[in-house]
Amino acid sequence: MKRIKYQATIAMPALSIFRDGILEWYRREGRDLPWRHTRDPYNILVSEILLHQTTVRSVLPVYQQFLERFPTIEACAEGPLAAIKEITDPLGYKVRGSWIYEICRYIVTECQGVFPDTLDALLALPGVGRYTAGAVLSFAFEQDAPILDTNVNRLVGRFFGVDYRDQRAEIRHELWALAEAVIPLGQGAEFNQALMDMGALVCTAKKPLCLTCPLYRGCAMGQSADDGLRAAETRVRYTPREKKTPKKESLA
Ligand code: SF4
Repeated sequence: MKRIKYQATIAMPALSIFRDGILEWYRREGRDLPWRHTRDPYNILVSEILLHQTTVRSVLPVYQQFLERFPTIEACAEGPLAAIKEITDPLGYKVRGSWIYEICRYIVTECQGVFPDTLDALLALPGVGRYTAGAVLSFAFEQDAPILDTNVNRLVGRFFGVDYRDQRAEIRHELWALAEAVIPLGQGAEFNQALMDMGALVCTAKKPLCLTCPLYRGCAMGQSADDGLRAAETRVRYTPREKKTPKKESLA
């Protein structure tokens, strides 16, 4: 399957440990979530925007309710916006309702109702950035598109020894390049879901489960870092490439 934009070189042993460890773990421990049972790009988009800045548990009932009330792009584009927001606002981050609405209106009016399936066309949708575009490309259209949400950013950075908290453009580019290079050819949909679950459930922000992590023997942080975590689970001393660290972990 065609690669999209980024290039990175990774030593084969580390790449094998990363890919095999994550896929084996995910097939055993991965979460069974309703948006993982569909390839419908509209459903995927709705799930991704609902999941923005909130938890899976909070999103589950809202996702169901939203798709029952607005089952298609056309239904959502007709609104009214107030009815959309009535469902989405209780999740917080109240812009998400108008975000979904504007995207659907754009697809109906500018794309003749056909969901875009290329990176450039997805990035042209209102409010859609690289993460959401990558999620739709991989989960709906089964392309090997990279994703880099907070969890994947942290996991990839720790494993490959890149300071994932550094917001400089070259570091962001390096992490995106790694997130793309780790995807086994033709397995973008499953692998990206696995990355997200591994980041959310094992390589967590405050207490990564290094002792039981299947990636431990190849992981830069797992093998050598502390990362400032002071967690009993971590037995390593991590040296970020730059000492300067932004106060908050956020993605560019
Ligand atoms: S060994 Fe620790 S730091 Fe490395 S990927 Fe696993 S949980 Fe994350």
